[in-house]
Amino acid sequence: MNKLSLSSTAALSNGVKMPRIGLGIFKVEKEEELLTAVIAAIEIGYRSIDTASIYGNEEWVGEAIRQSGFNREELFITSKVWNSDQGYEATLKAFNTSLKKMGLEYLDLYLIHWPVEGKYTETWRALEDLYKDGKIKAIGVSNFQISHLENLLKTAEIKPMINQIELHPKLAQTELRDFAAKHDMHIEAWAPLMQGGLFENGVLNELAAKHGKSVAQIVLRWHLQNGIIVIPKSTKPHRIKENADLFDFELSQPEMELIDSLDAHLRVGPDPDNFDF
Ligand code: NDP
Repeated sequence: MNKLSLSSTAALSNGVKMPRIGLGIFKVEKEEELLTAVIAAIEIGYRSIDTASIYGNEEWVGEAIRQSGFNREELFITSKVWNSDQGYEATLKAFNTSLKKMGLEYLDLYLIHWPVEGKYTETWRALEDLYKDGKIKAIGVSNFQISHLENLLKTAEIKPMINQIELHPKLAQTELRDFAAKHDMHIEAWAPLMQGGLFENGVLNELAAKHGKSVAQIVLRWHLQNGIIVIPKSTKPHRIKENADLFDFELSQPEMELIDSLDAHLRVGPDPDNFDF
């Protein structure tokens, strides 16, 4: 277990290696803030950045990549097609717009942001074609429940390699994790820190004191030991560093189970079975 490191990767079903830890940048709406965060993350050793067209910061991600001085192939860049761009033709167009904004030739991962009813199977066909054309190294979905995945798999030629979902100790998503494991799909946690909602938790604070780590580090380590890919968001370089400093301790099985017991099926984000955007 201690062999995990910041350069650890998950092997996706097509063999692509995706970093186990990436930087989330939802709600980073100022250029300077984004450049500082992304460049700090890359200097610390992060290689994966998670954006989306709806975040409105793709252009700055491209700029940060250029300023970092790293080769494109050393980095793993994710973006997502927004709901109003779904459908076959609209998705192709949205993908090209994202690529152009970032000034990139390809994406490492492209996701369907939300399962828009009546649209997502056609959106998926567009992702499959972009993948076959070599414009995306891996394709996946986000916020898909088991019912959406079962429906998608009826017509999909290629299985989603990733499902990016809200996941943290208060929303452990065990059924979706089991389903994903059966279908060779990796789970990526968004809001891995519950958007800051876990820092007062007594159990997590006790574990943090015991290990001499922060609550954020305990929670991120729990994700990693569960085989989950994480993309904690921070704009503060010291926290970006803290969120990647997870490799000098290990949670025991009873400690993992103690964190598992916090599951309360509690969402901080929208319900994928009932959203209206
Ligand atoms: P997170 O669980 O990553 O929490 C982020 C919050 O925690 C911020 O307020 C941040 O503040 C704070 N924080 C981060 N690290 C620490 C730390 N070590 N100590 C104290 N506070 C900390 O929530 P997100 O919703 O941002 O999720 C992560 C990423 O997932 C997003 O940025 C985005 O890329 C993706 N996402 C995807 C969604 C989807 O529908 N597919 C939906 C939502 C998010 P500060 O910045 O001030 O440090």
